[in-house]
Amino acid sequence: MIKVEVDMNKCQHYGQCVFEAPTVFKLNAEDKLEYVAEVDDSERDNVEAAVDICPMQAIRIAQ
Ligand code: SF4
Repeated sequence: MIKVEVDMNKCQHYGQCVFEAPTVFKLNAEDKLEYVAEVDDSERDNVEAAVDICPMQAIRIAQ
């Protein structure tokens, strides 16, 4: 399992991460980001892509 952390003080809810890892990140009905904090290793590539694309550098993978 890998642990995902999003700094909600930085996140601007743009949603780019949702496109990279849609099983991990989603925008809720209020367009606020929600995410799964513990995901399977098979999602690592997608989460890393989300880390790279986030314009606010808000996403972190905690080992
Ligand atoms: S890409 Fe970054 S700023 Fe945008 S919703 Fe995801 S975590 Fe938030």
